[in-house]
Amino acid sequence: MKIATKFVHAGAEPDPSTGAIMTPVYQTSTYVQAAPGQHKGYEYARSQNPTRAALEAAFAALENAQYGLAFSSGVAATDAVIKLLGPGDEVVAANDMYGGTYRLFTKVFEKYGIRFHYANMSDINSIAPLLNERTKLLWLETPTNPLMNVADIAAISVLAKQHKVLVCVDNTFASPYLQNPLDLGADLVMHSATKYLGGHSDVIQGCLMMNDKELREKLYFIQKSCGAVPGPMDCFLVLRGIKTLHVRMKQHCENGALVARWLKAHPKVGRVYCCGFEDHPGYAIAKKQMRDFGGMMSFTLKDDSIETAMKLLSSTKLFALAESLGGVESLINHPATMTHASIPREERIKNGLSDSLIRLSVGIEDAEDLIADLEQAIG
Ligand SMILES: *Cc1c(COP(=O)(O)O)cnc(C)c1O
Repeated sequence: MKIATKFVHAGAEPDPSTGAIMTPVYQTSTYVQAAPGQHKGYEYARSQNPTRAALEAAFAALENAQYGLAFSSGVAATDAVIKLLGPGDEVVAANDMYGGTYRLFTKVFEKYGIRFHYANMSDINSIAPLLNERTKLLWLETPTNPLMNVADIAAISVLAKQHKVLVCVDNTFASPYLQNPLDLGADLVMHSATKYLGGHSDVIQGCLMMNDKELREKLYFIQKSCGAVPGPMDCFLVLRGIKTLHVRMKQHCENGALVARWLKAHPKVGRVYCCGFEDHPGYAIAKKQMRDFGGMMSFTLKDDSIETAMKLLSSTKLFALAESLGGVESLINHPATMTHASIPREERIKNGLSDSLIRLSVGIEDAEDLIADLEQAIG
């Protein structure tokens, strides 16, 4: 099945009780049993819910996976993966990953005796020296936030297999339309469904996709035991979002390319971070493992001061100043004062995250309007 057909039909079976073409919102906490233990596969809604089950089937289909699991947020999905580990186990993670993942690892899980090492995942040679017999998991993101660094999922998965280490890819930035990590050898895919999968900035949700049955059982056990499950209405919203993922992503990619090229040619713009540019260090790998380059990008201004960046950030009219990404509407963000404010300035600059760095989530509006908005804001 080709991608558009797959996304429209993912998880969509007519409702068995009425034939309703859209999976109903099963807003219930429990299910009546005919006699003790005699039920229809549904006992209690933390463990099973039909709206969630339809969504989990859709999640699996999106990533060409056998199994999908839905969580109440992206970080709840990440939390479930780390709960596969125990004290003494070690993780090698990307050194420029999503701030909330870094916070979860360092501030929550380190105190339970799990050790985290951080590598530059764009340089595969920096990973091997951090692996040892206690390493259980490699956690990576590609492209990364906000500098759009690219990691080679296939090569990293080969290295991980040699060391019997699980690979989990946070595929939020790319979305399943652009990249399918399981097909490239990863064991687990995580998404913040809050972003492109939901696509309309109206829900917080996360998911995991995998092929291994035993891994699915362990994660399902964590899902029902720890209870970070999404409600049925949120599942319904994400199911609906998924049906148009391919249409939205096509437009995000088209607009993203136009905006990135326009920025690159602007005399006041410094550097544009976009993995679709041929001079981007990760371009060859991105081209190999992604179908297109998406709508996420960052740029700096030649006048690299917080003040100039601030002026631009408060002058856009279509680009809304907000955290998050992946919705139909365009967003603008200032990592230095917003998403990455907790990182000390020196550390930030060292990692290439300068004061004037601005991140865009290019939406699906008309590209001419988006460019005109940036034009008047940059001045
Ligand atoms: C937003 C985000 C998360 C966290 O997801 P929530 O749904 O906000 O919990 C994780 N990774 C990436 C790349 C994200 O953008």
